[in-house]
Amino acid sequence: MTLTRDLVDWSFQEKCEKAVESLGRNGFTAVYCSTRQKAFDYIVAAAESAATVGFGGSMTIVDLGVQACLAGQGKEILNHGVPGLILEERVAIMRRQLTCDLFLTGTNALTLSGILVNIDATGNRVGSMFFGPKKVIVVAGRNKLVDGDPVAAVKRVKGSASPPNARRLNYNTPCAKTGFCCDCNSPDRICRITTVIDRKPRLTDVHVLVVNEDLGL
Ligand code: SF4
Repeated sequence: MTLTRDLVDWSFQEKCEKAVESLGRNGFTAVYCSTRQKAFDYIVAAAESAATVGFGGSMTIVDLGVQACLAGQGKEILNHGVPGLILEERVAIMRRQLTCDLFLTGTNALTLSGILVNIDATGNRVGSMFFGPKKVIVVAGRNKLVDGDPVAAVKRVKGSASPPNARRLNYNTPCAKTGFCCDCNSPDRICRITTVIDRKPRLTDVHVLVVNEDLGL
């Protein structure tokens, strides 16, 4: 561990803890995780009573590698991203994600004032974040923190997350080729639904884990 690395970690820890404090004020169950392993352990413990676990297509959750562990415990995994599924099968899984016992997702941005900002194409991921599942766990890597308002958060998403996501998914959008958003009107446009969750949704048990490591895009 170098001094530089220590200082970077310390600086992000302060920001993560500020976000956790703000999320708590906004009604969420919010937890600081110094490492991704701590987030992994939290999810496994929280999943104990869950029979069905939904995955919204988040790279953050893929990075955590929690799916294989939960599948090994006999949970029914609802992941519409499994290769080889036809559209009807994918949509059927997305619908079931909306009523699963535990839904796992990342967030495109988290402001230091405790607001979750996301941009989605289909809406299954963002819809499941605020109503339907019995419990939702949102994992936010430190790279998702934004020191600003939801407008700044949207800027972060369209600047740093949407273009590489469009490229990852092989969509034919300008940003997938150039790396820059031009507010396109492409049929493949992935920026179709923007959500701002600024307080805990009334009937949904939402936990937010803020991790002092980079996770997802
Ligand atoms: S609006 Fe279009 S160009 Fe901009 S990030 Fe979204 S998909 Fe890419």
